[in-house]
Amino acid sequence: MDVSTLEGVGSNRSKLLNDMGIYTITDLINYFPRNHDDRSEIKTISMLSPGTTNTIRGVIATDGENIIFKPGSPVMTKFILQDKTGVLELVWFGQPYLKQYFKKNQEYLFTGKVKEAFGRVYRLQMESPDYENIGEIDEMLSAGRIVPIYALPKGISQKMFRRWIKSALDMVANLSDLPEESKKTNESKEVADPLLAIIRKGDKSVAPLCTRASAIRNIHFPESDTHFHEARRRLVFEELFFMQLALLQIKGVSCPGIVMATNRAKLSKCLEPFLLRLPFSLTATQQAVLNELAYDLQSGKRMNRLVQGDVGSGKTVVAAATAFLVMSCGYQAAIMAPTEILAQQHFVQFSQLLPEFTTVLLTGSIKRKTEVLEAIREGRAQMVVGTHALIQNSVMFQNLGLVITDEQHRFGVNQRAALSNKGKKIGDIDNIEAIGKASKELLPHMMIMTATPIPRTLGLILYGDMDISIIDALPPGRKEIKTYYVNGTYRQRLVAFMRKQVEEGRQVYVICPAIEESEESAESTKAVNTVKEYAIQLQKRLPDISIACLHGKLKSQEKDSIMTAFARNELHIVVSTTVIEVGVDVPNATLIIIENADRFGLSQLHQLRGRVGRGKFQSYCVLVTDTKNPQTLQRMRAMEQNSDGFALSELDLQLRGPGDFFGTQQHGLPAFTIANLYRDRHILKESQEAAFAVHEGTPLTKEEQAILDSRVIDVFPIL
Ligand code: ADP
Ligand code: MG
Repeated sequence: MDVSTLEGVGSNRSKLLNDMGIYTITDLINYFPRNHDDRSEIKTISMLSPGTTNTIRGVIATDGENIIFKPGSPVMTKFILQDKTGVLELVWFGQPYLKQYFKKNQEYLFTGKVKEAFGRVYRLQMESPDYENIGEIDEMLSAGRIVPIYALPKGISQKMFRRWIKSALDMVANLSDLPEESKKTNESKEVADPLLAIIRKGDKSVAPLCTRASAIRNIHFPESDTHFHEARRRLVFEELFFMQLALLQIKGVSCPGIVMATNRAKLSKCLEPFLLRLPFSLTATQQAVLNELAYDLQSGKRMNRLVQGDVGSGKTVVAAATAFLVMSCGYQAAIMAPTEILAQQHFVQFSQLLPEFTTVLLTGSIKRKTEVLEAIREGRAQMVVGTHALIQNSVMFQNLGLVITDEQHRFGVNQRAALSNKGKKIGDIDNIEAIGKASKELLPHMMIMTATPIPRTLGLILYGDMDISIIDALPPGRKEIKTYYVNGTYRQRLVAFMRKQVEEGRQVYVICPAIEESEESAESTKAVNTVKEYAIQLQKRLPDISIACLHGKLKSQEKDSIMTAFARNELHIVVSTTVIEVGVDVPNATLIIIENADRFGLSQLHQLRGRVGRGKFQSYCVLVTDTKNPQTLQRMRAMEQNSDGFALSELDLQLRGPGDFFGTQQHGLPAFTIANLYRDRHILKESQEAAFAVHEGTPLTKEEQAILDSRVIDVFPIL
């Protein structure tokens, strides 16, 4: 039923509602409050003190007055309210009609912030309070109870919206409270509540969940705190449960894949020349992960595997080995990196690691792109390294067998899907699904590498559709990076430390959060050490040392030549923004100084720190911050004490919540309407276990499957 059927929803407001994604009554009741305000406790006027928000009940003692202070300013409407204990002024601005609304000698409830009424007879005042007529006591929605607060656009008031929600809830209740319904047995009630029926299919018992109907009612207008928490638990559980069950199903569906060799022994044989060439031998964990990858390649199923490994754990060589296998079997391989710098670096590394194949670089800024595209199309280029330029429609492959995505969390889920669906010889790809079906040819194997250690529970959501391999040990001989946090007074000494490192033949990174002043608001600019300014100042103090400055606004050629010079040790210090953050590998760099370290989250700091400690020399990470914020200092201390990325990421999530944890954009996390992955981690775990159990249990019926599908589509549209 359309929302416009509700009283008070005209065409203007129904448009506003549509803009909020609300079209039907069902949409409306699924628009949950942002928070609640407990107005259930009614105070007397004598109990009030300025600065607090309260609900009071009293009688309007005067006729209303509309006062205009000066021409053009909004009308102030004023009443005096009285209860047994005192009097209070009530004022509103710009709502002159209220003068007629409140009736003298009638009783009302008001909720608002209490202020001192200066210069008047009356001691206290409430400005623009919410109100409720006691005559409508059954209908009390905005006072004398726990009241929902919604996120609303201009033009829809809280009061109005609450009334619509209430009518919608009544309508829905009337529908489901049909007489037959109440006669039904318990079992058929569960049919009306499919979540419970589906959960029962697994052998995992979950703590009691209230019914959906009760949850919806109480999420809007909770009868009590307890009711609210029960309601929320139920809705969060439902949201997480259905999504995870869907992910499990997707993962379970095995897509046929290109068979790269008839058996694994043959594959490992084929890898020998690659391994013999390496200047080191693979660690046991690298080898184990490579085995898993090789297994996937010959299994006949399409590989969809995430390789997770802390910074410096040696993912690149594992990726190159996998590409080597695929290319040895006559297929092309592609690797997509999140930044140009990283793509260029991979290009250099892959060219070296895979000399018997032709490696090409494909980024937005390369020259002679047509030639490169042609080589890819004709299969002369076997290894393609690029940025997201790779997923453009103009890129066609001869016979793509493997797609590797590096640092996947930087890409949206959609991009991941787009590249994974670049099958063979397929032209313009607009509709991925259509191609998947239309093409008889097999889609390439997928391998995703991430250096962001993700707490396991979240990993299952972000990558729930994938198999996961973890490289959990660093190559041998690595020294722990000594980490210190210091305040700005140490800068002088840091300059001396940089000189010392450089004189010993080592190299230094300095990371600053912003490029130039205009990026930041005037106030914070003072606190920010901009890259350019920092580089200039540093050069003055270290005139004999070569220093360069690197940031995202440079042309990619410039960035490239700086990084190349740095990698060759022709440059000693690079002052950079976080463009340096991912993947860059210069084993001779031993010191990283992170300015304004308070601006970074733990995971990001850990990533940055991973730029050093990649060779045999003792490395250092110095975090500079003047902040006194206890939470920030907790992060700094965690960095000093901890070198394990997984532990840090758990802590980061705890300190900052999932939104910040993944960055606001393109985190790839589905948009939840109610669940908060950190706050609700216990429910997450419980729903995860229940979903596993159901997945293992008897298959869902058609109806149940339909319910699951319809629930999931909103949360995770890509699926
Ligand atoms: P990341 O996992 O962060 O991408 P890299 O693949 O860049 O790590 O590897 C970090 C460094 O460790 C590189 O210089 C690489 O050559 C080196 N490395 C990788 N595997 C080994 C190994 N088994 N033994 C010694 N060094 C290794
Ligand atoms: Mg890497």
